[in-house]
Amino acid sequence: MFLACDVKPFEKKVYLSSPTMHGEERVFVKEAFDTNWMSTIGKNIDEAEELAKEKIGCKYAVALTTGTAALHLAVRLSGVKKGTKVFCSDLTFIATVNPVVYQGGIPILIDSEYDTWNMDPKALELAFEKYPEVKHVVLVNLFGTPCKYKEIREICDKHGAKIIEDAAESFGAQYRGIAAGSFGDVSVISFNGNKIITGTSGGMLLTDDEMIAAMARKLSTQSRDDASWYQHSLLGYNYRMSNIIAGVIRGQMQYLDEHIAAKKAIYERYKEGFKDLPVSLNPYDEQNAEPNFWITCMVVNKEAMSRQIRNDSTVTYDREHGKTCPSEILDALKSINAEGRPIWKPMHMQPLFESNDYISANGSTGEDLFERGLCLPCDIKMTPGQQDAIIEVVKCCFG
Ligand SMILES: *Cc1c(COP(=O)(O)O)cnc(C)c1O
Repeated sequence: MFLACDVKPFEKKVYLSSPTMHGEERVFVKEAFDTNWMSTIGKNIDEAEELAKEKIGCKYAVALTTGTAALHLAVRLSGVKKGTKVFCSDLTFIATVNPVVYQGGIPILIDSEYDTWNMDPKALELAFEKYPEVKHVVLVNLFGTPCKYKEIREICDKHGAKIIEDAAESFGAQYRGIAAGSFGDVSVISFNGNKIITGTSGGMLLTDDEMIAAMARKLSTQSRDDASWYQHSLLGYNYRMSNIIAGVIRGQMQYLDEHIAAKKAIYERYKEGFKDLPVSLNPYDEQNAEPNFWITCMVVNKEAMSRQIRNDSTVTYDREHGKTCPSEILDALKSINAEGRPIWKPMHMQPLFESNDYISANGSTGEDLFERGLCLPCDIKMTPGQQDAIIEVVKCCFG
C-alpha cells in the first residue's frame, strides 16, 4: 500500500495523454457540414493526406479508419498470407502484431535493446539465422523514439526482407534526418485519441510504392472493380477515413510541432526532477535521433526495486525503505489524481501469443523493462506546477 505524502490531489485529473484541441479543427469539421461532404470522400481527407505526405516526405498517404486498419492493409499488401512467418517487435502495443494474425501469418517475436527499447538488431540477426526464409519484419518506434533503423535496414536488405513500420506513436520523430513513417517499405501512423495529434480516431498508410497505395485505396473501399455495377474480384474492407475525422486531423496537423515541443519540455522536466533518484528515463540516440517524446517513461534501477509480484491480473508489492517499484509509483500517482501506466507488457508474455517463438540476444530486455518501468503522466495541458507535484510524489515513494 502506498502511504500518502503531503502532496494535494489535483482537482481535475491529469491524464497520461489526452486530446488537446485548438479550435481550427472546428473550422474544417464545419466546412464538411456546410458543403455536405459527410462521407468518406471530401476535401478534408485529400488535404490531411497531403499534409501527412509533406511532413513525412513520402510519395503516397492513404487515410483510413484506424492505425490498426492501416497496419492490416500494410501487412496484407506486403504479401503476408496464411502461414507466413513474420518477425515482429515484442515490446509494443498489441495492435502492432494482431494484423499479422488477421492475415493468418505467424508472428515471431523479437526482443528489444536497452538503447531505444525497440527491436534489437542482434536478436533480429539471430532470428534470421533460425528462420532464413522470413521476408517480413514489423517494427515499432516505441513511445515516439526511433528504432535503430539503419542497422535494422541493413540486416533486412541482406536477407531480402521488407520492413513494415508501425509509426503509430512516433509521428513527427526523426532519425538521421529521416522522418518516422518513412523507415518502412510501408509505414503506418495513428490518430487515435491519445496520440501526439488526433482525429478522435484514424490512421494512415504511407509508402513510396504507387501500386501499394492504389491497392490500399481499393481494398479500403470494399475492393470495387472498374465497372458500372458492383463488381468485386478481391476481398475488401470498409476501412476508409471519414471526412469529419479528417477535418479534425487537418486542424491538428498545424500543431504537431507545438505538441512535440511541449512533450519534449515534459521529458526534460522529468529528467531534471529525477536526477538524484535511482531511476532513468526512456533513452534515445541523442546524436542521431529526435523523438516526438510522446510518452516519458521511467525505469527504477535494479538495486532500488522493492519486491513486486504480478500475476495475470493482480499485483502485490512490499513497502521498503529507500526502494520502490512501478506498482507503488502508479498507486502514488493515482492518490493525487494523476494517470500513469505500466510499460507495454511484452507480446511473448501475453496468453494470446503463448505458443509463438520469441527470440532475444541475451536475457529478456522486454521483461526487465516491463518489470521496472512505467509511463508517466505526459498530458501537454499539465502545468509545470502539476508536474512538480508529480515529481514530488514519485520522490516520496523512495522514502
Ligand atoms: C495506437 C497504436 C496502434 C493502433 O492505432 P489505432 O489507430 O488505435 O488503431 C498501433 N501500434 C501502436 C504501437 C500504437 O500505439
